[in-house]
Amino acid sequence: MGILYRETAVAAPETPPLEGERRCDVLVVGAGLTGLSTAWHLVERGAAVTVLDAEAPGFGASGRNGGQVNPGLKCDPDEVERHFGPERGRRMNAFAGEAPGYVFSLIERLGLRCEARRNGTVRAAVHPRQLEAVRRTAEQWIARGAPVEYLDREAVAAVTGCERYAGAMLDRRGGDLNPLSLAREIARVALGAGAAVHGDSRVLSLEPAGGGAWRARAARGSVTAKSVVLATNGYTDALAPDLRRSIVPLFGSVAATAPLDEAIAARILPGRNVLYETGRVTVYYRLDRANRLVIGGRGPMREIADAAAIPQIREYARRLWPALSRVAWTHGWGGRLAMTPDHYPHLHELAPGLIAFLGYNGRGVALATAMGAELARRALDPRADLAMPVTNPKSIPLHPLWPLAVKAAIWHGRVSDFLGR
Ligand SMILES: Cc1cc2nc3c(=O)[nH]c(=O)nc-3n(C[C@H](O)[C@H](O)[C@H](O)COP(=O)(O)OP(=O)(O)OC[C@H]3O[C@@H](n4cnc5c(N)ncnc54)[C@H](O)[C@@H]3O)c2cc1C
Repeated sequence: MGILYRETAVAAPETPPLEGERRCDVLVVGAGLTGLSTAWHLVERGAAVTVLDAEAPGFGASGRNGGQVNPGLKCDPDEVERHFGPERGRRMNAFAGEAPGYVFSLIERLGLRCEARRNGTVRAAVHPRQLEAVRRTAEQWIARGAPVEYLDREAVAAVTGCERYAGAMLDRRGGDLNPLSLAREIARVALGAGAAVHGDSRVLSLEPAGGGAWRARAARGSVTAKSVVLATNGYTDALAPDLRRSIVPLFGSVAATAPLDEAIAARILPGRNVLYETGRVTVYYRLDRANRLVIGGRGPMREIADAAAIPQIREYARRLWPALSRVAWTHGWGGRLAMTPDHYPHLHELAPGLIAFLGYNGRGVALATAMGAELARRALDPRADLAMPVTNPKSIPLHPLWPLAVKAAIWHGRVSDFLGR
C-alpha cells in the first residue's frame, strides 16, 4: 500500500474548494508545512489569510517525508559562515540549528497531536573515510554550544543496534513526528483562528490587480490579496516558471514495515533516535510510535504505490538487521523534494508583495515549519529582515535535462559511497 501516514495521521480538516471572489491580506499558495505554518503565524498576528492548495493540506512532501526533525542546514556551520560571511552565516546557523526547538515548542504550545518525540538525530558515517567529516560537523556545533556529541564505532553500535557504522554525531536537538499529522494539525489551528484553507484549488494564474495587490485565479474562484507567499517547493508548477527552473524536483522514496515484534524493536535504535547516513545517496530511518521501521532513500523518479517498487531499500534494511527478513513491508511511497545547486534553501522576492521560499534539499520538516514565522513577518512588512538572505531565482542550466543528470549523479554517488570516497 501507499502512504503510511494517510492511515496513521489525525483526520484531515474540512478544506472545500475555493468558490467565488475573495479578498484578504495575504494569500498563501501551497498547504505544506511552509504554507500552513506561514498561515498560522499570519492569523496569530491578526491578518486575514487564504491558503490554496492544488490537492489538500499535507499532500506534498510535508505529508510524505521520513518524519525526521533535523537541525541545521545541509552545509556545515563553518561552511555557512564562509559562504555568507560571519554575521549572516551566524544568523542562518542559529535559525536552522534552533528550528527543531521552535517546532517542538510550537507543537506543545498549540497542543498539536502529531506523535512528536525529541530523542535526537544520529548522523552516521558508513565508511571510515567519512568519519573525519562527521567529527568536524560535531566539533563545529559543539563550538557553538549545541547539545551534540561524537560517537565512536562502539558507541554508535549501541545507539543503532547494528555494526555498520564507523562513527556518528548525536544531535539532541532533533527528533521525529508524524508529518501528515503535523500539517493537518497546523491547518486545524489556522482554520480555528480564522484562516480560510481550500483544497482542490490549484492556482492557475497570478496577476497584479492594481494598487500593489495580486489576484490569483483557481478553477472556481479567485482571491485578491495585498501580498502573496508561494510555498510550493518540489511541487512548483507552471504558475512560477522561474522558481520551477531554480530547483531540481527529485523524488525520494520511503518504505515502512508492519509494527515489529517487541524483541526486534528493542534492538533497533533502542533510544528511539532517528538516523541518517552521510554520503551522496542518503539512507535515513526511524521506528515510529507503533514500532514500524520507516526507512527512506533514493528510488524511481516517479510516484510509487507500494514497497515492492523499492526492493533496494528493503534489502538494505535486511542487511542492517537480518531479523527483518521475516517482517512484512506494508507501505511504500514517494514524494518530491526540491534540491538546489548550492544546497541552500532560497528566499526570493519575485516582485513587490510576492515572496517565495523553497529548496529544502530534503531537510524541511523543522526548517519549513520554523520558516513560517519568518515568512509571515515578511509578508506583512516587506522591510522585515529575515535570517535567510533574499536572492534572485537562478535558472539551472539545461534544466529540462535534470532527470538524466540525476541518474548519472546517483550512479556516481553509489559508486563513490561504495568506495568510501
Ligand atoms: C520522500 C521524502 C522524504 C523526506 N524526508 C524528510 C525528513 O525525514 N526530514 C526532513 O526534514 N525533511 C524531509 N523531506 C523534505 C520535507 O518533506 C520538505 O522539505 C517539506 O515538506 C517541504 O514543505 P513545503 O510546504 O515547502 O512543500 P510541500 O509539502 O511539498 O507542499 C507544496 C504544496 O504546494 C502545492 N502546490 C503546488 N503548486 C500549486 C499551485 N499552483 N496551486 C496550489 N497549490 C500548489 C502542492 O499541492 C503541495 O501540497 C523529505 C521529502 C520527501 C519527498
